[in-house]
Amino acid sequence: MSTRVLVINSGSSSIKYQLLDVETHEALATGLVERIGQPTGKLKHTGPAGTTTLEQPVPDHEAGMAMVLQLFEEHGPRLVESELTAVGHRIVQGGSVFAGPAVIDDAVLQQIDDLSSLAPLHNPANVAGVRAARHAFPSTPHVAVFDTAFHSTLEPAAYEYAIDREVARRYAIRRYGAHGTSHLYVSRQAAAFLGKDPSEVNVIVLHLGNGASATAVRGGRSVETSMGLTPLEGLVMGTRSGDLDPAVLFHLARVAGMSIDELDDLLNRRSGMLGLSGHTDMRDVHAAVEAGDENARTALDVYYHRIKGYVGSYYAHLGRVDAIVFTAGIGENDDLVRAGALAGLERLGIEVDPERNAGRITEEKVISPDGAEVTVLVIPTNEELEIARQAVETISAG
Ligand code: AMP
Repeated sequence: MSTRVLVINSGSSSIKYQLLDVETHEALATGLVERIGQPTGKLKHTGPAGTTTLEQPVPDHEAGMAMVLQLFEEHGPRLVESELTAVGHRIVQGGSVFAGPAVIDDAVLQQIDDLSSLAPLHNPANVAGVRAARHAFPSTPHVAVFDTAFHSTLEPAAYEYAIDREVARRYAIRRYGAHGTSHLYVSRQAAAFLGKDPSEVNVIVLHLGNGASATAVRGGRSVETSMGLTPLEGLVMGTRSGDLDPAVLFHLARVAGMSIDELDDLLNRRSGMLGLSGHTDMRDVHAAVEAGDENARTALDVYYHRIKGYVGSYYAHLGRVDAIVFTAGIGENDDLVRAGALAGLERLGIEVDPERNAGRITEEKVISPDGAEVTVLVIPTNEELEIARQAVETISAG
């Protein structure tokens, strides 16, 4: 059986895709359709013949997917449907319904759509991507891999908010977490790196990208995670505030007359590093600090302070920590953040070796000194590979 999987990550105005061979881990093609529904769309496809870019309107996801097929047809590799094991879809919110991947049929697609109230920006876009892909590949199985599924092992003590139980039940209010596919992949890779089975190790994963989250993984199971009902809770992010006293919202509604939509926009799109420093990208924040910008300096301090608090909290929850792992855009590339976030934790057995930590790190690497009680690692995440793997496993099990 071929183990080729087309992985699709569909956003409200974009489709990101990768054709992967699960056996060899090779990405045979990658691509991105952007600005769907806007006057000018953009397509980029990288395959065996190099990279092709196109600018043309992409009215909707159906049209986008048709153009992707065309790109494969013209620039390779040729997508013979019979050689595709599955199409794997990244789905953001699986609620309490999906604790693992699911083969997509009409009923599953309806359930994903029904969960849209919990992820109004993401699930409808995911559904649009699935619909278009099912039309494009009608005889290939489609598998949904949920960003929340890895956190379905959280105990009530970790996932319940201390609010009226009846209100919480009626509106499905609880912590679901996110970035689960990345946390699962990275925590398993960490165990393998340490030469152990995932069941034998306790790991804290710090997924620091434009979105950021921390997860405590005990014996291969997620037991605590920083994102909540939505990806807004937890660490400071590129444009999201992370943790905040909810009363800030009532206060702003009362004293500033801000609407629900304005508050949503403030916390999701105009806060975090952008709100504190004026910059979303961590490279720009560092450049501003270098130039003497006090706001940028404070923004970084807030960023480190929040991560350190989570590491301490997760240490307490796990009792014993074998490894702390940095991953994603900032976690893999930013040595200043890795050193800054863990500074001063020597008493917990956590140290970063300046030489090992220096620069961008593109492969799995230890950055703690020899003999350190806690191994600090950088492990590049690969959500696409994990989605492809799970898709193949799900099909094989079926
Ligand atoms: P992600 O969401 O995982 O793709 O991460 C994107 C973020 O990674 C960007 O917004 C940057 O803040 C950060 N990033 C990417 N490359 C670097 C780099 N070389 N140094 C520092 N930060 C980086």
